[in-house]
Amino acid sequence: MSITSDFHLHTSFSGDSEADMEEMIQKAISLGLKDIAFTEHMDLNFPVTPDTPEGFFECNVDSYLYHLLILRNKYVNDINIRFGIELGLQPDIVRANVKVAKEHDYDFVIGSIHVVDGIDVYEPEYFEGRSDEEAYRRYFEAVYENLRSYSNFDVVGHLDYVVRKGRTLDRDYSYDKYKDIMDRILTRIIDLEKGIEVNTAAIKYGLKELNPCTDILRRYKELGGELITVGSDAHKVEDLGRGLDRAEAVLREAGFEYYTVYDARIPVQVKL
Ligand SMILES: [Zn+2]
Ligand SMILES: [Zn+2]
Repeated sequence: MSITSDFHLHTSFSGDSEADMEEMIQKAISLGLKDIAFTEHMDLNFPVTPDTPEGFFECNVDSYLYHLLILRNKYVNDINIRFGIELGLQPDIVRANVKVAKEHDYDFVIGSIHVVDGIDVYEPEYFEGRSDEEAYRRYFEAVYENLRSYSNFDVVGHLDYVVRKGRTLDRDYSYDKYKDIMDRILTRIIDLEKGIEVNTAAIKYGLKELNPCTDILRRYKELGGELITVGSDAHKVEDLGRGLDRAEAVLREAGFEYYTVYDARIPVQVKL
């Protein structure tokens, strides 16, 4: 295994995880990882449902940071622990997100689109009354709209996240079908000097490819993109580090020789 970083991790400081931060760190050390980033959820204005009550995805960052600093110190000789956040982007909360991103000295900020037109993409409602292709296209348009209005992030999380919940998953899905809008998204990310992540949670969702698919990674590279973090998006200890070997194979296939870790928001390239 040559990728020794997992840069997308959730713990009990995220509304949808009960994972213990110290157990996550111990697991990462046992796998031989050198760099990890905790990226707790901060999704302001997340739609309220019986499963996601008001404020469900809003992290208590002070408490989170307090615990992280204690554990960072305890394991300082074993592993680099980065202080990150996964910010949920929506066009009507740009100012609030700018404030969140500036309020703490994060090492790493993921910008993710989980909510489109006020609907959680994980809810069946998002796909109601339209084909997967229409639902996927609307998602990508929303990604582009968010990237036009907001830029305080380091990488875009799981760029084709929407395919995880389509009726057909990624069976009929390809970069080529969405080339027009996807090229605009990738060009925007590159113009902003930002990166994208390879998210291996796709394995858990039964997808044939990781998020995003290999052709999108290849295209990002072709257009001049160089910044790629790798993350398992683990919400449980057992998922930490899953698929890093596969991510490495995919990155090589897409033409990359480096992956990226961040420290104090500054990218550092690591040879594959
Ligand atoms: Zn996410
Ligand atoms: Zn996540």
